[in-house]
Amino acid sequence: MKKTVLSIAVLLLYQHVFCWGFFAHKKINYYAVFLLPPEMLVLYKPNIDFISEHAVDPDKRRYVNSSEGPHHYIDIDHYGKYPFPELPRKWDSAIKKFSEDTLRVYGTVPWWIQTMLTRLTKAFREKDQSRILKLSAEIGHYIADAHVPLHASTNHNGQLTGQEGIHGFWESRIPELLAEKEWDFFIGKAEYISTPHEFIWKRVLESAAEADTVLSLEKKLNEKFPADKKFAFEEKNGTITKQYSSAYTIAYNNEIQNMVEHRMRQSIYAVASFWYTAWVDAGQPDLKSLSHKNFSEEELKEFEELDNQWKNEKIKGREE
Ligand SMILES: [Zn+2]
Repeated sequence: MKKTVLSIAVLLLYQHVFCWGFFAHKKINYYAVFLLPPEMLVLYKPNIDFISEHAVDPDKRRYVNSSEGPHHYIDIDHYGKYPFPELPRKWDSAIKKFSEDTLRVYGTVPWWIQTMLTRLTKAFREKDQSRILKLSAEIGHYIADAHVPLHASTNHNGQLTGQEGIHGFWESRIPELLAEKEWDFFIGKAEYISTPHEFIWKRVLESAAEADTVLSLEKKLNEKFPADKKFAFEEKNGTITKQYSSAYTIAYNNEIQNMVEHRMRQSIYAVASFWYTAWVDAGQPDLKSLSHKNFSEEELKEFEELDNQWKNEKIKGREE
């Protein structure tokens, strides 16, 4: 009986759980805006709603296109043991060693962020406002994903250790319960990143190292936390839903010593710093005089289609 209840709960929890959850992605892009210098705020502040809302477009795109999925993670433990010296950090060398197909199967997030940075820098150079905003929103998503420990692990939803659901628990349930009330997102200023590839690989390796902690401390908590109190019917977006109980969520957050808040703060700093770096590398264009200020009919239609597919279709490819 207990087992049946648990399976139903896990099933409920597993729906639409991937990538920081929409809540955290939107917050990360939103707070990143406040780290920017005044020359950039003239563009980002009036468009903060767009930057925040479209933080989740890359996840919506996973309902349209199966090649989108690998941009969001890297199962780095496939390539050996920490710090994974077997895996070349450069894309061309990695392809030579493992083939492009293999790299795509196990995820490409650290390389994809560098591609996005090149595109954003180009958009700044061309003074193309719509592209700057769209790419800023999207690179924010991928950078934030690279900070999630379970995005750097083959055991990405605890499926290999009987901990299914932990993915959404870590990146959705915990921030949704605690971020607004308890966490601090006053972070300081964006900084220029002179070696973006080193920066992002460092963050990916931190994620990989923390994945073990995320999983092992949940196992440990399960040994001492009453099993019948792990899940509860609690309010979520105005409806009562069966989910990880508040008590369990708080207990786990204490076990991992606020790791989620810490990674969210690091994501915010990284996102703002990548935006800033792209702008500096483009020669610090004046953001008060840009072209292509309004999205074309075609672009607006694309946003709408992304939204429709996400609402009505099934995800193409892996669920996180
Ligand atoms: Zn994602």
